[in-house]
Amino acid sequence: MVQKNHGPCSVRNCNNQVTRFHQFTSLAYEKAQKKGTYEAHTYLRIGQQLCHSHYMSIVEPYHTQKSEVPFFLEPDKENSNRKY
Ligand SMILES: [Zn+2]
Repeated sequence: MVQKNHGPCSVRNCNNQVTRFHQFTSLAYEKAQKKGTYEAHTYLRIGQQLCHSHYMSIVEPYHTQKSEVPFFLEPDKENSNRKY
């Protein structure tokens, strides 16, 4: 566990002021696909960095605290694909 994640966050338009980053691993990729969150971020590639907020909302959306920065989909085109 020597590897350190420094960012920057690979999510477009990310302005989150966070110091914690996570690597978008193949496991994270699988989870995001299963949860459907990857559909809004198909430009993400395994090995990229995600800030903590985005990582949680994309990879672990059901664990996200209500107080955390909410996860917004692109309002115009992506909303029609929401299944919730
Ligand atoms: Zn981010």
